Amino acid sequence: MLPGSSKVAKTGAVVDSDNSPRKYSRSEHNISRSQMSENALKVLYRLKKSGYEAYLVGGCVRDLLLGLEPKDFDVVTDASPEQVRKVFRNCRLIGRRFRLAHVHFGREIIEVATFRGADNGEQGDHRVHEDGRLLRDNIFGTIEDDVWRRDFTVNALYYNIRDFSVLDYTGGMQDHTAGVLRLIGEPTVRYKEDPVRMLRAVRFSVKLGFKLEASCEKALFESAHTLQGIPAARLYDEALKLFLSGKALQTFEMLRHYGLFAILFPQTEQCLAQEKNDFPRMFVAKALENSDKRIAEGKSVTPYFFLSAFLWESVQILAKEKIAQGEDDIIAYQNAANMVLSQQVKSLTIPKRVTQSMREVWLLQLRFHRRVGVKPFKLLSLPRFRAAYDFLLLRAQTGDVDIELAEWWTRFQAVGEVEQKKMTRPPRKYKKNRKKRDVTKQDSAVNSQNE
Ligand code: ATP
Ligand code: MG
Repeated sequence: MLPGSSKVAKTGAVVDSDNSPRKYSRSEHNISRSQMSENALKVLYRLKKSGYEAYLVGGCVRDLLLGLEPKDFDVVTDASPEQVRKVFRNCRLIGRRFRLAHVHFGREIIEVATFRGADNGEQGDHRVHEDGRLLRDNIFGTIEDDVWRRDFTVNALYYNIRDFSVLDYTGGMQDHTAGVLRLIGEPTVRYKEDPVRMLRAVRFSVKLGFKLEASCEKALFESAHTLQGIPAARLYDEALKLFLSGKALQTFEMLRHYGLFAILFPQTEQCLAQEKNDFPRMFVAKALENSDKRIAEGKSVTPYFFLSAFLWESVQILAKEKIAQGEDDIIAYQNAANMVLSQQVKSLTIPKRVTQSMREVWLLQLRFHRRVGVKPFKLLSLPRFRAAYDFLLLRAQTGDVDIELAEWWTRFQAVGEVEQKKMTRPPRKYKKNRKKRDVTKQDSAVNSQNE
């Protein structure tokens, strides 16, 4: 805790009454400018030269301290967005309520935010919804105001370009060293203000290998349900960050543990919760493990893959019910897919182009069973074949489909055209003089091939 007497801030945080930060000089931390993006440095130096304060803040400082490569470099300053625009020619202002400056350097964008202020109510605009959610967050302030609006102490460290020191108002440096993820302020208040912070808690805890501080963890269990109030579109963006992180399996386990997964994907949770059937859990885990492995190998991953895996069992259950009621296979799966997707988008929206790919992956599963004539060749030429085949492999590995089928398709892709033609040749005409029992034997072999 900071020295000096304490008071309770608006966030419920106990803060030093004079708000003075602990300053870590250049020799007391390991952040070096050589780890930073050149463009971020240019922005910081230019702001400083123009007489403004300029800091790196947030995830980049946190990650640099760990020796990780930051995803992006966020700059904060006391210059207003308009003032920032005057400093940089390559700058665009974005956002309607809280304006941010984007400084463009080819494909890299450095985001420059003006310090956010605390609303003292003088603007006559209510900032907090009756359930505690923050509605407006658009007032400029000082660094002393800005710091308390941030989520975790380790995300509230400011790297000052003026003397290369790190300013710490919340004990973030100590938490960082101890590997603790601690919310600034009273956890239930902070989760209520913005329930997405719960997802961020899980994401950062997994990414950094930090332990959630006890009261933050306790409040997670109690507040998980408030995530329901978050717009479904915002949750999609968060889901991508969670499941395309390279540590999706661990993230999934942790989200389930806190009851957060059930809110993002209620139908999946329902399947996972069935005690008698272990397949959904094994299948989802395998899919996530696969994505993590691909990311580790530097391969691409797509959102539709993990999303189709999450919802596959729900689609299958529904489709099988429809087939039992006499619906045709393909129609049953199409209808089931529609129903499951329209239910899903109530909690977490998935863009149309993504749901389209999910449908394709699901429906192509039926076509893998057709292995005679030109059909396999047609299937092979489809753009979504590869994803559907990877999905088939996962199903085979987890007992959802016969392993022989997956092996057949693996071989079909590997062999040359002559062999492919042999593999897809219709069954031979039976010799008329063959004994009846031999014919019966062949029949069953043909049937199993056409299954
Ligand atoms: P990463 O970019 O690696 O995902 P990050 O911490 O930089 O992590 P951003 O979403 O880029 O995350 O946000 C930058 C900073 O803005 C955070 O470090 C935090 O200080 C603040 N911030 C972002 N979202 C919130 C939020 N929901 N509540 C409070 N502060 C937030
Ligand atoms: Mg960031």
